[in-house]
Amino acid sequence: MACGYLVVSTIEQEAPLKSTIKWWVRHNITRKMVGKHMNIKVTYLAHSGFLVELDTCYMLFDYYKGNLNNISKDKKLIVFVSHSHYDHFNKDIFHLDEEYPDIQYYISSDVKLSEKDIMEYGITGELSRKIEVVKAGQEYNLKIISENEIIIRTLKSTDKGVAYLVTYNGKTIYHAGDLHLWVWQEEDRQYNNNMTARFNKEMAVVKNYSIDVAFVPLDPRQEDWYHLGMDALLDITSIKHIFPMHFWDKPEIIQKYKEYRNKQYKGKSTDVNIVDVERTGQTWTIDI
Ligand SMILES: [Zn+2]
Repeated sequence: MACGYLVVSTIEQEAPLKSTIKWWVRHNITRKMVGKHMNIKVTYLAHSGFLVELDTCYMLFDYYKGNLNNISKDKKLIVFVSHSHYDHFNKDIFHLDEEYPDIQYYISSDVKLSEKDIMEYGITGELSRKIEVVKAGQEYNLKIISENEIIIRTLKSTDKGVAYLVTYNGKTIYHAGDLHLWVWQEEDRQYNNNMTARFNKEMAVVKNYSIDVAFVPLDPRQEDWYHLGMDALLDITSIKHIFPMHFWDKPEIIQKYKEYRNKQYKGKSTDVNIVDVERTGQTWTIDI
């Protein structure tokens, strides 16, 4: 299920020290774009599902449930699926094209569809051309209108599938999917060391980006180590707004994290805005 009009390029592993500026030049992102403010609207759907509205398009990340009634047909809809787990993917997304014909899908290659699914959801002909099946470590470009190009970089998840770094008009949105530092006290040292190495390898790529909005796991099941993944990400790169997710209906973990961070970074400047995600359907308008 490849999409004919998209340009796909494989990029070699980059040296961690590659400068962001070089990347801007390569992608023709000008200073004017970088300095330009952009208004975005973020809606929390459920778990790791978020809808992001920009001036010319919507980005829907890891939808598995929630209300999608407020999407306008006037803008392009871009649907991202990080991996196949039930809490990140719902086949109903393949019905969205009936209502929103100007749609583009980026679906991780671990998502498998049966013949029955393909028939049931009508994933043939025209719809299949709107689906790009993505793998980790790739870059995908999507033209919105005239020079408005979206650059999508995929990272390898430490669980399944991919994470997305999406750059548009000089602004970067990061959706981690299940790319996270999944260390557990009940696992042995070898498992946790291996996990840490795999996580750090991806963070070496993230380091090249200055992120405007990030969606990142903060998982209470990790108990005392719940904060390590988010700490590592915030240490490695600058993030303006971070939306914790994947907290299994326990949003109170966000307050706990903010208190911990206040103590930890007392007196030192931390510019990140850790967003209080409290309930499904909650929306934020952010100037980035
Ligand atoms: Zn998950």
